[in-house]
Amino acid sequence: MSTSLQPLRLGKEGETGLFIEWNDGHRSVYTWKNLREQCPCASCREEKLKAEDPFRILTPEELKPKPPLAAVEITPVGYYAYKITWNDGHDTGIYTLENLRAMCECPECRSSATQNQQTSSA
Ligand SMILES: [Zn+2]
Ligand SMILES: [Zn+2]
Repeated sequence: MSTSLQPLRLGKEGETGLFIEWNDGHRSVYTWKNLREQCPCASCREEKLKAEDPFRILTPEELKPKPPLAAVEITPVGYYAYKITWNDGHDTGIYTLENLRAMCECPECRSSATQNQQTSSA
């Protein structure tokens, strides 16, 4: 592989997401929703593994109207990752650069992801 991938610039993509410009010239875009859904922290991963209980009673906390999901802070963690603090207070997700690049939602990456699935020869 080439030299390690590093973001050159990172910022808000409109009101709904994030962009990252990489040192290889690629510009990644993300929506807050997808980033949050793919939060790599332990509690979010556990949450996803749990089967949804159809008879579960929503807590008053869950029934409260929520503001649209957004990140309030993105802080670098060493040279390899970013920590995202969300507007609902969640801040335990550490997104590695590798993960972020793999999660890229730009049209180019999304179409190459489907191509890879078809050929599946790494
Ligand atoms: Zn999380
Ligand atoms: Zn991309």
